[in-house]
Amino acid sequence: MKTELTFHGAASCVTGFCARLRTESATVLIDCGLFQGPKTLKALNYQRFPFDAAAVDAVLLTHAHIDHSGQLPKLMRAGFVGPIYATSGTRALCEIMLADCGHIQESEVEHLNRRNERRGRPLVEPIYTVRDAERVMRQFAAVDYEQWTQVAQGVRARWWNAGHILGSASIEVEVDEAGGPLRLLFSGDLGPGGRDYLRDPTGPAGGGDHLVVESTYGGAERPPCSPAERRAALAKEMMNAHEAGGPLLIPAFAVERTQELLADLIQIVDACEAPPGEIFLDSPLAIKACDVFLKHGWSGTSNPFDRIRAKGHLHYLEKPWESDELDNLRGWHVIMAGSGMCDAGRVRKHLKRLLWRREATVLLTGFQAVGTLGRLLQDGRKTVRIQGEPFQVRAHIRALDIYSGHADGPALQRWIEARGPIGGRLFLAHGEPEAAKALRERLIAAGFSADSIVSPVLDQSFRLERTGVVESPSQRRLGAAQPAALDWHNARSELLNDLEERLDRAQDDATRLGLIERLERDLQPKA
Ligand SMILES: [Zn+2]
Repeated sequence: MKTELTFHGAASCVTGFCARLRTESATVLIDCGLFQGPKTLKALNYQRFPFDAAAVDAVLLTHAHIDHSGQLPKLMRAGFVGPIYATSGTRALCEIMLADCGHIQESEVEHLNRRNERRGRPLVEPIYTVRDAERVMRQFAAVDYEQWTQVAQGVRARWWNAGHILGSASIEVEVDEAGGPLRLLFSGDLGPGGRDYLRDPTGPAGGGDHLVVESTYGGAERPPCSPAERRAALAKEMMNAHEAGGPLLIPAFAVERTQELLADLIQIVDACEAPPGEIFLDSPLAIKACDVFLKHGWSGTSNPFDRIRAKGHLHYLEKPWESDELDNLRGWHVIMAGSGMCDAGRVRKHLKRLLWRREATVLLTGFQAVGTLGRLLQDGRKTVRIQGEPFQVRAHIRALDIYSGHADGPALQRWIEARGPIGGRLFLAHGEPEAAKALRERLIAAGFSADSIVSPVLDQSFRLERTGVVESPSQRRLGAAQPAALDWHNARSELLNDLEERLDRAQDDATRLGLIERLERDLQPKA
């Protein structure tokens, strides 16, 4: 039997990375992430896996982000009993992130079931609980960077620093086959390089058979930015937000971005490069992650996160009521709250009370996936809905791309070229179709043959030959164009927003009534 590679996630979309490698003697998964973004995509999290979880021998984990690790407890519940290989940094972060995710699953289902009960619909179960997240940690096995580990019968793997978040890795896999090992490399998420908090991404040199590369920012080209320039840009955003009257709300990705931003914010305030003010970290997960960074964030002899301690200007808000008290605070201060794409967590509470205030500033600092509230704000929407309620956007919406944990197009190209020559195929995964297309065009312009580049769709399966691939039949859960597209839930929000706006803007009540009557006529069944 030929080795077969199937993409069960992050294929023509950014989230839910999961690749299944089936060899003659074993089945291993590379990551097992949760889908995020449009509801159609998130609904997949509630469905069964499209493969037998009990038949998986091992999971090789690139990094702790939930869109790469978030379905591990579900995999265990579905019968997976094998080891989960990961670096010690990834393990430490997964311990807090999976428990947090379990907690979110439990409370979302509780909320949903209250509604289901009211509407007489059947109750649903959480995908997994905090207890499941704690149990799956027993299956973790630590690996060291750049050391070969036997991960299953006839399969070896080696982890390389990917410079994306603490513990992140690209994973090199060798599969024993007649005629010598088949060599694959999974990039995981790749960091931008040139950052003081992260190492530059590394990887094996000397070529391989097939390469699977992320393409999140495949269409982006960022000017180089030194740590000093980065802090200066953040200080400028702080000055502007202060001038507008404050506060500054930073929707934060709890792990890595939050700690980097905090380290910079504290350094800026300590150096008097921005007006002094209180900094509130309003994310229980990010607070826990700060401890992990104090323990594991060492680069050489110093820990760049050492200044992040809850003293002086920095306050940790652990309890929900502490977070509610910020409502009484006026004037200049900084609030960081999760989630980074604004579609979950405490940040929604702050957006509800700040979005309509002209003196407030919201600073987006990371990737905003299609269908998320963060993306709508970034796209300049004037009205948005939060938990079904419409809100006018009067606050200053700013975006700062320099904290992104992802390599841009040129950096991806450099990383790919350093791994070459590739004898087989280059799979572009983990990107929205436009980004993957841009990276594909960039690589073709750099001399890669168009035939060698494959952009897989969800659940697409390939038999791996040494110099090429043959597509094998597979069950698809979604249509090819669906994963990154806005779905009817987004369309409904948009229609409702549009209606609210038109009704608000209408000259008088007669016009408003006329508009509603016209809509009602259209809703009548056609004779
Ligand atoms: Zn990631």
